[in-house]
Amino acid sequence: LFIAFEGGEGSGKTTQSRLLAIWLRDQGYDVVQTREPGSTKVGMRLRAILLDAAHQGLSARSEALLYAADRAEHVEKVIRPALHRGATVVSDRYVDSSLAYQGAGRALDQSDIAKVNAWATGGLTPDLTVLIDVPPSVGLARFASPADRIESEPIEFHERVRREFRALAAADPDRYLVVDGTQAQEEVSRIIQDRVREILPD
Ligand code: C5P
Ligand code: MG
Repeated sequence: LFIAFEGGEGSGKTTQSRLLAIWLRDQGYDVVQTREPGSTKVGMRLRAILLDAAHQGLSARSEALLYAADRAEHVEKVIRPALHRGATVVSDRYVDSSLAYQGAGRALDQSDIAKVNAWATGGLTPDLTVLIDVPPSVGLARFASPADRIESEPIEFHERVRREFRALAAADPDRYLVVDGTQAQEEVSRIIQDRVREILPD
């Protein structure tokens, strides 16, 4: 079982993916909790390059390819091996982040991003994607100050990202759960658990 968490800055997906992993482990499931970018040796170096505020002028295409490279490594070294041995994988971000940030955010062609990522992942798609939806004004206000290169983008950038996430979810409601991330943390995790319970193997 492969579950991905998506959402904008400060949406709480890191917290919620951790809580879901703990909840699943409590029930005896073998869980691999992972994140993008940066869950492999090479991925950690790519993450450093991608988030470095010194790389302000990084070309949009180059950025898209570096995220895809990180993802290819993530899929081959972490996600597929875990799924192969029967573990449940919970990933903080996956392909939709590229469609939202590099596609809508940077205004690159959506179908190009989709193609590059289908190639990078060998077509591996999550069984469920949990979108934690918060308005960027709320999400960004949860940080004291912008920490990395992308968090420092203007609010319009983050609005485009949010719109794309919501559009992706609306286009495939069976494979997405959209949760209002402005609710209390306990409420958000209860809604996620209710949905995941439906797809758990016995
Ligand atoms: O989720 P996390 O905050 O750790 O992600 C690191 C940064 O990378 C975020 O600022 C996020 O917006 C950015 N990102 C991106 N494109 C992706 C994935 C993440 O711009 N495909
Ligand atoms: Mg961040």
